[in-house]
Amino acid sequence: MEIKGKKISIIGAVRSGIGAARLSKKLGAVPFVSDSGSEEKLKTSIALFESEGIDFELGGHSERVYECDLIITSPGVPTDSVVLKNAAARKIKIISEVEFASWFCKGGIIAITGTNGKTTTTALMNHTLNECGIKSYSAGNIGNAFSDIVLDVKEDQFVALETSSFQLDFTEKFKPFFSIILNITPDHMDRYENKLEKYIASKIKITAYQDESNFFLFNADDINTSRTMQNRRVQKLSFSLTKEVPAGAFVRNGKMFFAWFGALEEVCPVTDLFIKGEHNVANALAVLAVAKTLNLPNLKIRGAFQSFHGVEHRIEFVRELNGVEYYNDSKATNVDSVVVALKSFEKPIYLILGGKDKGNDYSQIESLISRHVKKIYAIGVSAEKVKSFFESIVETEIKNSLEECVESAMLQALPGSVVLLSPACASFDMFTDYEHRGRVFKKAVNNL
Ligand code: ADP
Repeated sequence: MEIKGKKISIIGAVRSGIGAARLSKKLGAVPFVSDSGSEEKLKTSIALFESEGIDFELGGHSERVYECDLIITSPGVPTDSVVLKNAAARKIKIISEVEFASWFCKGGIIAITGTNGKTTTTALMNHTLNECGIKSYSAGNIGNAFSDIVLDVKEDQFVALETSSFQLDFTEKFKPFFSIILNITPDHMDRYENKLEKYIASKIKITAYQDESNFFLFNADDINTSRTMQNRRVQKLSFSLTKEVPAGAFVRNGKMFFAWFGALEEVCPVTDLFIKGEHNVANALAVLAVAKTLNLPNLKIRGAFQSFHGVEHRIEFVRELNGVEYYNDSKATNVDSVVVALKSFEKPIYLILGGKDKGNDYSQIESLISRHVKKIYAIGVSAEKVKSFFESIVETEIKNSLEECVESAMLQALPGSVVLLSPACASFDMFTDYEHRGRVFKKAVNNL
């Protein structure tokens, strides 16, 4: 589509909406941004639009939205929102910001989706490529909008692109060089009419427009993902923690291997990975499969795995004090994430649990808690629920603040153990968001 002079309506005035507006303006189009949010909430966006001469409206969508050649929608806008329904009824083309930016990408897109592990894998991918001497950018939910960086990407460069299913819902020819589905478990089901099939279909769109010159990497251990291999034209690879795959990456006797239809190469021991946990081994296998397909040297890949210290707030190592290690896993806002965190440690754990509970079923972690956890510090509005559920299994104490938890843990934790914030809950009862909670925890730990 020739963009110059075209009228483009952009729904959503936050990160990807801002990115799309700026990119379309740079390309000579006429963007108009529309958001139902209030001026109060969108102050920063207003300042930016005004300084860059981008037209916008807030507090609702007027008729002007439909006076356009194209609509670019943001991931936060529900698929069944009135504005998108009206646009569809008027036969206006609707695409996502990722689709739009991809039209102008000269380099190779490595698109990463999945229910869990997207940010970590995107960051590790970007780090590994750069450490191997290949210029790579990271974009998507992870930080910059794709639109913000796409014009910088040269032909021999790559973009590690964290791609949510919401972005994929509105693609029509999105064609990554490599597409990756890490795993698919029920999530955001409200947006997919509670139908897992619909959610899976949305994730599969990551490979829908690929061809023989592209690669599709999937998780052979995940039934929902294995079922997504129908696309016949693309070159398929997989990764697995449990079995040897014909093309892709797997673990054998504590070592990571790359296989390519009969050829087999040992790349590195699993212990090269600085980041903790089996789930991160899976994430690293995905990165390894891409790096080896690009023929990158093992020594550099190993170096990258050793020097990647993870993404903030995801089982993030904070410090060691008196033989006790402190980890910040504030991003663990549900019980599934706590399962993953508890399985990541061999050492006894002093666990900080609680916050704004979203109807958690703690029986899911009962046995893991009794095996791994020495003591629970319960915080937030769910502290009573946590205490009454766990006190018969493990010593559980209610605390009023994260600082109190950290100070008590310092006095009580024995050398060789771990103090872990992995709350299984949202943070809004005590903090602005999970990042704020994680920062408060780290500050308390660093003040010890
Ligand atoms: P996302 O961007 O998909 O939310 P993150 O990389 O931010 O994923 O990780 C969020 C949480 O998801 C982690 O703290 C961990 O609990 C869990 N997680 C990460 N990778 C995996 C994986 N491969 N499988 C299952 N859970 C994972």
